[in-house]
Amino acid sequence: GAAKRGGQVISFYQKGSEEAHLRRLRLIGDLRHAESRGELQLVFQPQMAVLDERPVHAEALLRWRHPELGFVPPDEFVALAEHAGLIPSITRFVIGRALQQLDDWRLRGIDCGVAINLSALDLSRQDLPETVLGLISKYRIAPELLVIEVTESAMMQDLEQSIATLHKLRSAGIPIAVDDFGTGQSTLAQLKRLPVDQLKIDKSFVMALRAGTDDERIVSSIVQLAHALALVVVAEGVETEEGLEVLRRQGCELAQGYLHSRPLEPEEFARWWGERRRKERVAAHGEAQR
Ligand code: C2E
Ligand code: MG
Ligand code: MG
Ligand code: MG
Repeated sequence: GAAKRGGQVISFYQKGSEEAHLRRLRLIGDLRHAESRGELQLVFQPQMAVLDERPVHAEALLRWRHPELGFVPPDEFVALAEHAGLIPSITRFVIGRALQQLDDWRLRGIDCGVAINLSALDLSRQDLPETVLGLISKYRIAPELLVIEVTESAMMQDLEQSIATLHKLRSAGIPIAVDDFGTGQSTLAQLKRLPVDQLKIDKSFVMALRAGTDDERIVSSIVQLAHALALVVVAEGVETEEGLEVLRRQGCELAQGYLHSRPLEPEEFARWWGERRRKERVAAHGEAQR
C-alpha cells in the first residue's frame, strides 16, 4: 500500500543520490588529471558591438571532454573544482591558454580581446593579481585586451576581499565585468563600491527578449543603471534579431549569443573572423571591386 510505495520512493531517491554522489566522486578524481591528459580546452564566443555588429572580444569558455562520460558541462565541474581545491590550477590553465590564443591571433591579424571567467574562490586568493599580471607580461599582452568576468553572486560572497582583488587587477588596466547581472542579490550601495567597467545582463532576460515585454523593461532599467554608473553594457544569450533590435534601441553596447555564433574552437573562430572581415570588405567596397 502507501507504506510500500513510500518505501520505494525513498529507495529510488537514495539510489538516485548515490549515483549522483558516485558521479561527483569520479569527476573530482578525474578532473585532477584532465589538464595533463589534454581533456581541457577553451572555446571562444564573439562579443559584437551592437551598433555595427563587428566582433570586439571573445569570451573564453572552458570545455571538458571526459574520455568515457563525454561532455561535462562547466556549470557542473567548476562547482566540483571549487569543493576539491582545483580552482587555482584550472584558472591558471584558462588564463595561460587564453593569453596564448590572443598572442597567436594577434600575429595572424585577428585583433580582438579575450574575456575569461573567474570563480568566487579566485577572488579570495591573495596571489591571484600577481598570477594574472605575471602571465600578461609573459605573453606581452596589453592589459585592456584581457577582460575578467566574475558573477555578481561571486563578488558578493566576500565583498571586501573582492573589492581589494578586483581593484588590483583594474589598476593594472584590466577591465572587469559583472557576469550574470540581475540574478544576484547585490544592493545598489554594494554595486557602487565595486571597481568594475562592464555589466553583463544575464541571459535569462535576453534569450527571448521582445519589444514591449517585462524583459525589455528589465533590460532598459539595467542599461540606465549601468550608464548612470558609466559602465559598458553587454547582453549575453542574444538569440534573435528582434532581441538585438531591442538592445540597440535601449543603448546596450555589446551583444553575445547564438544569433552571431556559438562558442567556437580556436581554428573555427579564426575562420569565422576571416569570413566576417571578408563580408565587411565586400559590403564596403563592393562597388569598387566590380
Ligand atoms: P557564463 O560566463 O555566464 O557564460 C555564458 C554561458 O551562456 C555559456 O555557457 C555560453 O555557452 C552560454 N550561451 C552563450 N550564448 C548563448 C545563447 O544565445 N543562448 C543560450 N541559451 N546560451 C548561451 P557555458 O559555456 O555552458 O558556461 C556556463 C558557465 O560556466 C559560465 O557562464 C561560467 O559561469 C562557467 N564557466 C565557463 N568557463 C569557465 C572558466 O573557464 N572558469 C570558470 N571559473 N567558470 C567558467
Ligand atoms: Mg562569463
Ligand atoms: Mg553570464
Ligand atoms: Mg552564467
